[in-house]
Amino acid sequence: MPKVSQSLTTQNLKDLLNETEINDLVKYSQFSSCKEKDYTYGKDELCIKLISLLIDKCNEMKENSLVKLLIWVKKQLQIYLDIKPDAYTFKKLEKLKQSEPNLKMKFGWMVQYSLLNQEEDIYKMVRRTYKSNTIITKNKIKKNLMIKRNSLNPQIIKFANSGNIMNMNKINENLLDFKNPNFDIFKLENKVGKENILPVTSTYIFITFNLFSIIDYTKFEKFIFNIANGYNRENPYHTDLHAADVTQTVLIYFIFGNLQKILELNQIDLASIFIAAGMHDLGHPGYTNNFLINTKNDLAIRYNDQSVLESYHVSEGFRIILKKEGCNIFENLSNQDYKICRKRIIQCVLATDMTLHNKEFEFLKKKIETFGIKNGENFEKIFEGLDPVTTYNLKQDFLNVLIHSADVSNPSKPLNIYKQWAKRCVDEFFRQGDMEKKLGMPVSFNCDRETVTLAQSQLGFIDAIVFPLFSVLIEFFEDLNFTVENLKKNREYFKGVKENKENKENKDKEKEEKEEKEEKEENKTIIKEENEEKSED
Ligand code: AMP
Ligand code: MG
Ligand code: ZN
Repeated sequence: MPKVSQSLTTQNLKDLLNETEINDLVKYSQFSSCKEKDYTYGKDELCIKLISLLIDKCNEMKENSLVKLLIWVKKQLQIYLDIKPDAYTFKKLEKLKQSEPNLKMKFGWMVQYSLLNQEEDIYKMVRRTYKSNTIITKNKIKKNLMIKRNSLNPQIIKFANSGNIMNMNKINENLLDFKNPNFDIFKLENKVGKENILPVTSTYIFITFNLFSIIDYTKFEKFIFNIANGYNRENPYHTDLHAADVTQTVLIYFIFGNLQKILELNQIDLASIFIAAGMHDLGHPGYTNNFLINTKNDLAIRYNDQSVLESYHVSEGFRIILKKEGCNIFENLSNQDYKICRKRIIQCVLATDMTLHNKEFEFLKKKIETFGIKNGENFEKIFEGLDPVTTYNLKQDFLNVLIHSADVSNPSKPLNIYKQWAKRCVDEFFRQGDMEKKLGMPVSFNCDRETVTLAQSQLGFIDAIVFPLFSVLIEFFEDLNFTVENLKKNREYFKGVKENKENKENKDKEKEEKEEKEEKEENKTIIKEENEEKSED
């Protein structure tokens, strides 16, 4: 008979339950004997006790805690009693469900609709988070890089070889400068070519975070080139260059915000956000969601007018991964890791829908108010005492804010870079405006080239969206201060442009009025003279 008393002491439960829950459990009458060190439960006795514990607790506990308890019970059955939990526990539960209507409802809901399975996946992931960093030894990293070096795409190798792929610092300093917040992606695009900019950016990041230890390099290469080619390079703004920019910007936030450590992200989390950044505007047609909805476009019909583009981008991305030969970057992942990764990617891409901006902004503000976040202090308090599922979701909330921030970050870049993005973005808006005029539709906000100016649109975008967002973001990640500094300078620049234009327009107007007045005076004099001449005659 296996000894189970150890498994029921406070000590051994720490990784599964919080202190209150452990105390609850130990206090619980059915397990009072587990306090006695040598007590051994019989197999059937324990099984019945565990299951009746579940039943009794079922009505008092919230879904999350209940799932946690159920997982724990399953683990006890598996480890100590060598019972295959799914077969056994559920057979028992099935019987019990029939006699307990409440239980039937709760478990029926959880098990039938597989919330339980999903939650359990998340638990496994969360627990692995703490292990993932130690699993990969230095030798393993070296070996992975050797393999990658041999199979790198020739375009990337060309650039990698001018540094040394084995030496990340050399790449940083000499080659790509990806970790510099003033990094000029337009320059790199000129060097590597339009079709390579996204693959080079993503590959660099995957190497940096050693993500090729979980994702096969050859598949990734094929996948990322397919993603890059899936962008519409005719668009002024929404191309793979923008995707590469967002990807690199997220990297900057990770480095300067020390995010991997603060948010305790594992490799699946990291792979998810960088894959999401790469595919977040995939197949963008150059028109906004509202335009697609108003023109009753097929995409709007398919996605029921809800986050039309974002749903499309992420769906197309997964179509490449799952349906295109040789692109399944998730093939080596366990089913659970795949599920988590897919879930994270979908949520990240959907979070780039601008209609969610206020929600994301309010999320940050609320955390600041509740936890007194200032200059990066107290951040850790947000995660204190949370159960793993809530922690998982909270991390997702932060990933969402980060990808959204990177997506609207161009006004926070150095001015020469920002100006190029702004012009492209406004050009794309104007193209839409032209199309709307052609179709006899009302012209959308910011889309009329005859009335909207670049400076005016930029001041509006900075004041309404970007400045408030980044002002709040830097309270969490103090080292991202440079974003707000750039925003202030860039705002002054466009303010100057707008004022100069207005001054010039005012002067032109004054000049015009003056000329008009002079002309009128002149006409009056001529008429007067003519009249005088006439009367003399
Ligand atoms: P996305 O379309 O996914 O790139 O979402 C970001 C949105 O932010 C764009 O669609 C634009 O509406 C807006 N945006 C980004 N940069 C600018 C900019 N410089 N000026 C005006 N709007 C911008
Ligand atoms: Mg988008
Ligand atoms: Zn975007």
